[in-house]
Amino acid sequence: MSSSKNNKKAYLTVVGNAATPESFEPSAEIKKLWNAIYKNFQKEFGQAVYRSWLKPMTLQAYYHNTLEISVPTRFMKDWIQQNYAPRILEMCQEKNTDIKRLEVVVVQNAIVEEAQDEETASIPEQVKANANALAEEVALSSPLDPRFKFENFVIGQSNALAHAAALRVAESDSMPFNPLFIYGGVGLGKTHLMHAISWAYREKHPEKTVMYLSAEKFMFQFVKALRSQEIVAFKELFRSVDVLMIDDVQFISGKESTQEEFFHTFNALIDLNKQIIITADRAPTDLQGIDERLRSRLSWGLVADIQPSSYELRLGILRAKREMLGCDIPESVLEFLALKVTSNIRELEGALNRIAAHADVTREPVTLETTQNVLQDLLRSHDRKITIDEIQRRVSEHYNLKLSDMHSPRRSRNVARPRQVAMYMAKQLTSRSLPEIGRKFGGRDHTTVMHAVRKIEELIDKDPAIAQDCDVLRRALTG
Ligand code: ADP
Ligand code: MG
Repeated sequence: MSSSKNNKKAYLTVVGNAATPESFEPSAEIKKLWNAIYKNFQKEFGQAVYRSWLKPMTLQAYYHNTLEISVPTRFMKDWIQQNYAPRILEMCQEKNTDIKRLEVVVVQNAIVEEAQDEETASIPEQVKANANALAEEVALSSPLDPRFKFENFVIGQSNALAHAAALRVAESDSMPFNPLFIYGGVGLGKTHLMHAISWAYREKHPEKTVMYLSAEKFMFQFVKALRSQEIVAFKELFRSVDVLMIDDVQFISGKESTQEEFFHTFNALIDLNKQIIITADRAPTDLQGIDERLRSRLSWGLVADIQPSSYELRLGILRAKREMLGCDIPESVLEFLALKVTSNIRELEGALNRIAAHADVTREPVTLETTQNVLQDLLRSHDRKITIDEIQRRVSEHYNLKLSDMHSPRRSRNVARPRQVAMYMAKQLTSRSLPEIGRKFGGRDHTTVMHAVRKIEELIDKDPAIAQDCDVLRRALTG
């Protein structure tokens, strides 16, 4: 390390208040003292702690009886200050009673960032490797999706409890419930809520450490730590966080040693009064292949489920998403999608994105027609197999008409309008083509069907009575 001291300033990027004026350059005596202490770290704190935390500590300056030491990240700084700084100061004072304080500062990514510069040649390889390894380790927490915030989360009956619980945890200073366990099917917003908690919590408590990772990543890190005999550092790393979020915990099932470690970490964190948030695709009691103790401990706090979404919620999400996309998509298309893509909100969003992208490329307006073409493959798998006969029956009942009126050539308004509604429904709810629909309505031309569909789309926006008729019929047909 000492060989790099002379050119250190050339490649360190100083952040915060870590500026080191020339006059604070430590004297030869202080440098010698620091080197001696540094050498003793392994003996004093053990190999694992040394490698994970203390190794990158670098003497930066000496002023007003203060020894200034730099480390590469804020996380390390906090951890060292809390856990090792007092002892290190003692060690210094044993050698020199003038030293009164130990200041740990962050000198960020110094080595990695500037390695491309002209100073590259003078940076020892070992120093570079260390910095990389550490950067990786401290970046254990997975990145957060900037779209997954509370303000982008649409609330409905199915997710109201989970949302309220998440908000409470994010905004509360104490811990309202610990752990918070959120469960529900694929694509229903579990990860979204977790990220939202993390964003909100970080904003409110910038000084706290929030770690978010998938159960798979947790397992991977655990196994890696086992192999490289860094299990002590692993435990300390996890136990040092303020909030731990583990996503999709069902993936831990069956892996005994990981479960065991997770359980211990979990208990330790709860004992230390740290917040834990967990998601899974099912309730704690239904987690198979997970140790009974762990299952029961997981349900100690609050267990909140997310139910499959309702039509209204899906429509709400689509409307919000449309606004975000800034794309001109008619209401009838949103209704159509909310009706057709029911199982998974990720898929629903995917469908909307596809339509928007298609419109953007072709510069054509979005209609029900283009939507059905663009999403053919997706829609086929979601087809509920509603028949045109069924639609005609329901519509004629609804308007007190005879079924034969659906096929008849009569054109009076009180018959023609319901017939148009039925054609519109047929287009929306079945995958029949326009000519096929036309044939089912007394052999009408496909342009007649197209006109009917457009007319009703238009009326839904303008005439609340028609909008309500369509709504009631749609429910009856799909419910
Ligand atoms: P899960 O983790 O439950 O599988 P995600 O949280 O990844 O699901 O959600 C899938 C997609 O659906 C994400 O893009 C998310 O933003 C979106 N989503 C889910 N629920 C909602 C909601 N209530 N409001 C807005 N978007 C949602
Ligand atoms: Mg998820």
